[in-house]
Amino acid sequence: MKLDFHGLVDEVNQLKNAKRYPFLPIVEAVDHHRARLADAGEVRMFASCDYLGLSQDEGIKARSIDAIAKYGTNTFGAQIYSGHTRIHHSLEAGLAAFMEKEAALLFPSGMHANIGVITALMGPKDVVINDRLNHTSLFMGTQQSGAKQRNFRHADMNHLEDILAESQGCERRLIATDGVFSADGDIAPIKEICRLAKKYDAMVMVDEAHAVGIFGKQGRGAAEYEGALADVDIVMGTMSKAFGSVGGFVAASDDIVTYLRHAAPAYTSSRGSPPAVAAASLAALEKIRAGDALRAAVLANTGFVLTTLRNAGINCLNGVAPTIPVVVGTKEKAIGLSRWLLDRGILVSAMVPPTVPPGGSRIRLGITALHSQEDLDVLVELLLEARGVFDF
Ligand SMILES: *Cc1c(COP(=O)(O)O)cnc(C)c1O
Repeated sequence: MKLDFHGLVDEVNQLKNAKRYPFLPIVEAVDHHRARLADAGEVRMFASCDYLGLSQDEGIKARSIDAIAKYGTNTFGAQIYSGHTRIHHSLEAGLAAFMEKEAALLFPSGMHANIGVITALMGPKDVVINDRLNHTSLFMGTQQSGAKQRNFRHADMNHLEDILAESQGCERRLIATDGVFSADGDIAPIKEICRLAKKYDAMVMVDEAHAVGIFGKQGRGAAEYEGALADVDIVMGTMSKAFGSVGGFVAASDDIVTYLRHAAPAYTSSRGSPPAVAAASLAALEKIRAGDALRAAVLANTGFVLTTLRNAGINCLNGVAPTIPVVVGTKEKAIGLSRWLLDRGILVSAMVPPTVPPGGSRIRLGITALHSQEDLDVLVELLLEARGVFDF
């Protein structure tokens, strides 16, 4: 049988042969925000979503190790049957309280959470309305649910209202939006989305993957930042970014969570996190709840980089988040720039189509609370120098 790889495999092989392949660096060791890579030596890590540096926290590491000592390296099975330890139980309770919702439910990952929620709650008589720049997992859930799929232009509230007005014939309406958009780093107009949802009797789901721990006065995410947390029906988040751990979660009403716990295959039929991971998440939640200083540090570092780059005329879109886009245009430029930076000791992510629109290729900077002013100065100076080389 012949498979069609759409030229992608050839392209990857060419980049590898030319030693220009920018993805999948082999990480040999990590020390805070520095990493040793197999083929590039020691680098400053700017391809990080560990915004608060919690993956490196000694107290959290110790809690994780304690959990292994007490429970072993894994649970017996899926969470609902035999994998719900006291740690998982406390983590769900803690996440519900933190998100100011009645209940919370853990999933193996954020992607599982998005797919699990939408496929379980929505069906062929319903409509799911997504912002066009939402995370791919929200679209995957929408497609699998069999619901009608409508997408509104990014953050365009007039377009959203038109779609809501046209969707009154559907049984149920769910509006789904990222809180912080992962490729652009901007914040969704959640307050306005909730106002329209009320007007047209729709539910609102906010994916807080990049926002929880960072935005809002208490770090609850973009909905808190927008003053709309109480109006959001379903808050989804992940422990794979600011928590420095892994695992998805959903916080919502008791009824929604009870239903999902028994009806979402992404929960019932997939192994939950091992105790060591749940323990790291729980310890990270405690740090985040007392995390004003960490939040201030990452946002100050982010502000410095954004302001300096923008003052030099570099296109960071409407980004405000510690995931900063530097839009350069073509795929070749984005890959070339990431490789050029790597040769100078800086690891960033290259983002190319289909993850971003054609012509919108970019590098993405991940700024953390751990970066020093010297790290930021080196990054910014190299980017300014690179403008002359790659013309962006
Ligand atoms: C990272 C991310 C996810 C997926 O989370 P994982 O826990 O890594 O699966 C979902 N939504 C958004 C917006 C993300 O940025």
